[in-house]
Amino acid sequence: MEKVKIQSLDKNYSANIFVKRPEKYRELKEISDRYEKMIPMGSCSSYVPASFCNDNLSILMTKFNKIIEFDKVNKTITVEAGIKISELLQFTLKNKLWIPQIPGYPSITLGGIVATNAHGKSSAFHGTIRQQIKEILIYHKTHGWLNLSKDENKKIFDLTIGGFGLTGTIVQVKLKLEDFIGYNFKTSLIKTNSLIDTINNFNEENKEVYQYSWNRSDNITNLGKGFIFKNEINSIENSSVDTRGLYHDTNKLESNFKFNLWNNFTIKFSQFLYYNFHLQKKNKIFFENFKKIIFPFSGKEMYFKMFGRNGLIESQIIVPAKKINQIIDEIEFNLKKELPEITLLSIKKIKGECNYLRFENDGFCITFDFVRNKKSLNFMENLDSICQNNQLIPSIIKDSRLRLNTIKICYNAYDQFKKDLNEFDNRRIYRSQLSDILEL
Ligand SMILES: Cc1cc2nc3c(=O)[nH]c(=O)nc-3n(C[C@H](O)[C@H](O)[C@H](O)COP(=O)(O)OP(=O)(O)OC[C@H]3O[C@@H](n4cnc5c(N)ncnc54)[C@H](O)[C@@H]3O)c2cc1C
Repeated sequence: MEKVKIQSLDKNYSANIFVKRPEKYRELKEISDRYEKMIPMGSCSSYVPASFCNDNLSILMTKFNKIIEFDKVNKTITVEAGIKISELLQFTLKNKLWIPQIPGYPSITLGGIVATNAHGKSSAFHGTIRQQIKEILIYHKTHGWLNLSKDENKKIFDLTIGGFGLTGTIVQVKLKLEDFIGYNFKTSLIKTNSLIDTINNFNEENKEVYQYSWNRSDNITNLGKGFIFKNEINSIENSSVDTRGLYHDTNKLESNFKFNLWNNFTIKFSQFLYYNFHLQKKNKIFFENFKKIIFPFSGKEMYFKMFGRNGLIESQIIVPAKKINQIIDEIEFNLKKELPEITLLSIKKIKGECNYLRFENDGFCITFDFVRNKKSLNFMENLDSICQNNQLIPSIIKDSRLRLNTIKICYNAYDQFKKDLNEFDNRRIYRSQLSDILEL
């Protein structure tokens, strides 16, 4: 079998791997039984090397994309795990239903979403995908076909959600669906003057409104100036979303320019344009289509290409509300000291409870994208120390640079995850470059 060269989206890791793309359940079993080490793969669009490992097999699940069962009355759906999230939404939205925990790119698969416990724009309201999962069917080389739920194989169910594919291949998922009665989104903006001002302007909404910020990071004087975007489902009776625009053929995130085009000048220029464009919209209400809100990176792949061969670093951390002022102070202090080149800075609220290696907790979720260079890496070292000293949760699926020591300190249940995983699979058959970093 021929090897394929593959890279993580952040370009920090590459590997030569074998790929098999089963079409049938029997084929999946045969492949899994034949190979010694393997890892399931969705659309391979993760920032980190989570679905491949050098010289190992990746089981590409994209042919497993069927809808098995749909129960409109009880609002549940059972689907195969290789289905793209855009395909799943195309079906459910026609029935005025959806899952709200949607990561920002349409070709991401349901398997990838479950295995990373993903969240969406409404993370303050809906939490992570864990909230929607009723049952999972996996295939494991030594355990065979296993049904997982809160009532059956509960421990493996818990290990599998946010378990980075290490408990075997997720084949089917039964989801609880939520109502989506509306045509598009009603958006409004609040202008903010600093990061603290942004935090203070996040409202406690008693209705379903998604709030997230975009903050300037192009120079210290402008730091934190920006907007809070508020999206509310625009309920028009008897209307449903126009789903045609959701169609997404291929993963367009793979290619990149040879050289990095993000620098102080291009960051300043693009943020100046974005800021001034949105200034005119403040205090106004406008309507935006479903795709633009839910898949903000679709059609903007140029953003990733511009990082060139060196790639980017994405960091996402959760800060509890009671620590947020102190942490923002520390972040600002270090930003002024190291002056990293930040292309994206955004804040939203999130709710949940961190267990095992799942990225969830109650608090503010801060996202940064950096140009990969010395200044950024220095800043990130400081950010790691801030996380360690304050037990903040850094996202493992976003930042391939994170050290095991930081993860062990920040994730209280790291040892428990490792122990439970080894109890389930003492041969540790399912492995990736990420699981090697995590020493799992
Ligand atoms: C542009 C962009 C925006 C994003 N936005 C968000 C966001 O808003 N919120 C968020 O939480 N995340 C976000 N992410 C991260 C993304 O949700 C995860 O990286 C997701 O896992 C990618 O899914 P994938 O299908 O590409 O899986 P892959 O990258 O191929 O795999 C990711 C992990 O899932 C496992 N996996 C995949 N399929 C299966 C399966 N069938 N069975 C078992 N394990 C499996 C793999 O083994 C691996 O550990 C974003 C990523 C991108 C590129």
